[in-house]
Amino acid sequence: MAGFETLIDGWDGETAVIRRDRETGGWIFVCIHSTRRGPAGGGTRMKVYGSPAEGLEDAMRLSGAMSRKLAVAGLPFGGGKAVIAVPEIPRGGARRALLLRYGDLVASLGGTYCTSSDMNTDEADMDVIWERTKYVFGRSVAAGGSGNPARPTALGVFHGIKASLAHVDGSDELSGRRVLIQGAGGVGSQLADHLAHAGASVLLADVDIPKAKAVAARVGGDAVDPNDLLQTEADVFSPCAVGGVLTMRSASQLRCAVVAGSANNQLAEPEAAEVLHAHGVLYAPDYVINAGGAIGVAGTEQLGWDEAEVNAALARIGETLQEVYRRSEERGISTAAAAEAIAEERLDL
Ligand code: NAD
Repeated sequence: MAGFETLIDGWDGETAVIRRDRETGGWIFVCIHSTRRGPAGGGTRMKVYGSPAEGLEDAMRLSGAMSRKLAVAGLPFGGGKAVIAVPEIPRGGARRALLLRYGDLVASLGGTYCTSSDMNTDEADMDVIWERTKYVFGRSVAAGGSGNPARPTALGVFHGIKASLAHVDGSDELSGRRVLIQGAGGVGSQLADHLAHAGASVLLADVDIPKAKAVAARVGGDAVDPNDLLQTEADVFSPCAVGGVLTMRSASQLRCAVVAGSANNQLAEPEAAEVLHAHGVLYAPDYVINAGGAIGVAGTEQLGWDEAEVNAALARIGETLQEVYRRSEERGISTAAAAEAIAEERLDL
């Protein structure tokens, strides 16, 4: 594993802030990848890493992904990410004290970085950080924030699925279509509601089988064994559980016309996007279709949008995907490569 010096030297971002947190024995990294389009936005991940350098590397990689996501979503924000690398995940008073120290660090950056929640941090943590800085979004509704972003994320994915179907065969009609959702959690279950309401047949696969069955019963769909995803025929496969579901092998075996879901980092290997392209499976790039949470939270808490403005911005996820698909066709490149090209143009990379 490379040290801090090598990592920073090889990174294409603007600023990396490194703070030793002696009280917990941890490290805090705030990586501001780009402020070209506005203040850098991106969540705070709290995690136990094998070494501090791994935490820095994660923050750098994730901050670049945020620049792309927010640029393609057309939001006036750059990309950033923070990692709090701890020897163990703190609870209670130690957690609160750490978050207050972290809030002071974010405040000291003067608004060049705005944080939100990510792995192992939630809206209650954002409320604590808010005590020290206004540069935080994703606070609880009780504290004046917009709460859990799963609702706008699910609605954005719903628009993305319709746009993808329209691209495949000219109709965004959902009745008579089968959609297989992996993950019946916050996003997957609300997506199931939208799809069923629009007339689709919904199949749900979750490692928590009773959860999949409960959501399936609620929407009049069926639960599917989570090990049978590759054997299950559907018009759309919607990964809404974990990253890494698309390998070169699984991409060649999927029995669907469209892959369109909320999970982050769906491509386990970048070449899987080429395999999907070669097999005629339309892939909605994850960071394009799952931007609804960022749009909802940033729109409501930072840009002062009302519900109608947020909903209009979520519907534009479908239009953005259509642009990605057009470009993929025109240039004969994968949809992942087309999205990357749009991001690079908007970020002037
Ligand atoms: P969640 O934790 O509420 O739900 C995830 C569900 O997936 C759980 O029910 C879990 O049991 C299930 N699951 C885990 N591993 C599985 C597997 N191998 N097979 C089948 N099911 C499995 O999470 P969420 O908030 O619904 O987010 C879902 C995905 O979307 C995550 O990858 C997340 O990073 C991504 N995402 C979420 C948001 C958001 O606003 N919540 C925004 C952008 C991206």
